[in-house]
Amino acid sequence: MKFGAHVSISGHIHLAIDRAVAIGCECLQIFVGNPRQWRHIEYAAADVALFREKRARACLDPVVAHSAYLINLASPDDAFYARSVASLIASVDGVSRLGGLGVITHIGSRMGLSWEEAAARVAAALRVVLDNTEGAMVILENSAGAGGAIGGTFEELAAILDALEWHPRLGVCLDTAHLFAAGFDIRTVEGVARTLRTFDRTVGLRHLRAVHLNDSKAGLSSHLDRHENIGAGQIGAKGFRALLHHRVAERLPGFIETPGFDRRGADRKNLEILKRLRRLGPPGVRFTSKRTRRAR
Ligand SMILES: [Zn+2]
Ligand SMILES: [Zn+2]
Repeated sequence: MKFGAHVSISGHIHLAIDRAVAIGCECLQIFVGNPRQWRHIEYAAADVALFREKRARACLDPVVAHSAYLINLASPDDAFYARSVASLIASVDGVSRLGGLGVITHIGSRMGLSWEEAAARVAAALRVVLDNTEGAMVILENSAGAGGAIGGTFEELAAILDALEWHPRLGVCLDTAHLFAAGFDIRTVEGVARTLRTFDRTVGLRHLRAVHLNDSKAGLSSHLDRHENIGAGQIGAKGFRALLHHRVAERLPGFIETPGFDRRGADRKNLEILKRLRRLGPPGVRFTSKRTRRAR
């Protein structure tokens, strides 16, 4: 697995590359535009060209964007719904210009709608986005499953992909903190294997395009979305080591969205912890043979 971080684009979008390089990123997640506003930002051609040039030199691959936080692709409010669709289209266009893989987006919340009504609205929204963009993918992120948040179960993610006939530009991103809060116990090799087996049976591992690597301050099945530094939360280093060495991990980019050990966001230390776990190899292999493990 390649490791990257969600990095600030403050000042100029191409400065994200310098920030990513400074902390040791191998891939990169950014916002295109302001995540707390609906306003679309068109980046100047010179900024885009410089971003692409620096990115190639830094060998950051892939580059993804995260959509605006405001987005709700199921919103029962028609005006809000339309703004969500327009915002996602702008993000896909933006990341396509930058040469990125796709936009990772939260799906939204049912806000009192039944699952069937909400799912139909999400599917219709995604249809419009996919029909009005080209190039970059739309990558749906799992949720912690709080209240009406959509995507807390693999069945919900699968139902949405199915409604879009498994569109080739549609994929899934699994956030480890959200998985854990939603009730998937990924603290052990067995737990990680079981979770990804369940995912494979419902969604299919071939649709998994990225992971968000966040430890969880909140407990198993708490449905609370509280990111923690890698190894400092309830998932723990053992769970991450198991995930990094699962057979699916090799082709996936993993992005940290951790608070940082100095609480100032993406940092070198979180990435170094992950790189160390990657170097260590799969859990249980290095220090114990099969026989001694069985004897214990
Ligand atoms: Zn995430
Ligand atoms: Zn989160």
